Amino acid sequence: MVHSLSDTTTLHNGVKMPWFGLGVYKAQEGEEVIQAVKVAIKHGYRSIDTAALYQNEGGVGKAIIEANVPREELFVTTKVWNSDQGYDSTIQAFHTSLTKLGLDYVDLYLIHWPVVGKYKDTWKALEDLYEQGKVRAIGVSNFQIHHLKDLMADAKIKPMVNQVELHPSLTQKELLAFCQKENIQIEAWSPLKKGRLQEDSVITSIANKHQKTPAQVILRWDLQNKVVTIPKSVKEHRIIENADIFDFTLTDEEMNQIDGLNKNERTGADPDNFDF
Ligand code: NDP
Repeated sequence: MVHSLSDTTTLHNGVKMPWFGLGVYKAQEGEEVIQAVKVAIKHGYRSIDTAALYQNEGGVGKAIIEANVPREELFVTTKVWNSDQGYDSTIQAFHTSLTKLGLDYVDLYLIHWPVVGKYKDTWKALEDLYEQGKVRAIGVSNFQIHHLKDLMADAKIKPMVNQVELHPSLTQKELLAFCQKENIQIEAWSPLKKGRLQEDSVITSIANKHQKTPAQVILRWDLQNKVVTIPKSVKEHRIIENADIFDFTLTDEEMNQIDGLNKNERTGADPDNFDF
């Protein structure tokens, strides 16, 4: 089991990725994101999830320098945005991200959404960046089972990670089982359903039993399900709270109760029907 913030899952290429990290979607470029990342690193976070779309890679990079932790201890993820998909434009977008981050490699580079007709060329670019040593691992985001099968039919390298929306209202059991069978690590985005599960009575009752908060129960449920999780907060007390989940264990019954909350309900777009 996972015992601390620096514990890792081993991806299928042998690279170690922390089970827990900080998301920075909607953390504002400049002071807000810089403070959030620095505070998180100060409290032991070692993984940061950004994207070109978030327009805060510059701040993430600045915080990494100011945090003064050896680069190899950190795990930095960024993503190629939809309008940059295609082979040449992905290579270019990657270098733009790298420059903004001020890094000479990223740990994980993801295809942000499965743009039909483009994601295979985008994947070729990711494979080349990987083979050139510019990224330590490559993966996808928002891919359904059929997207993964289609991609893998032509790919040289199998994705190491699939980052998808996953929380108690959207448990993604089928996709999780498929990815576990294929050795593709599932990573949850909006693990807290953007803060919308705070009042759920099943979760609050489990939280009360363990003297934990609803957010802590949900994040612990991720880890016990072998799902990498990246809650976002820009507030120091929540950055600390979200990571304080290594001193309790949910019982099988509690895990099942949370699984039972599934409604296949998304907060974000449906990967089979998006228009951006
Ligand atoms: P989360 O489920 O992580 O929820 C974040 C929201 O919950 C924020 O409003 C935050 O507010 C609040 N919050 C955080 N901690 C707590 C707490 N302990 N109690 C109560 N409220 C809390 O949503 P995100 O959408 O941000 O998802 C996490 C990360 O996943 C993103 O930041 C991004 O890195 C990634 N992501 C990837 C996507 C993709 O397509 N690949 C799509 C969406 C997200 P505050 O900051 O004020 O504390």
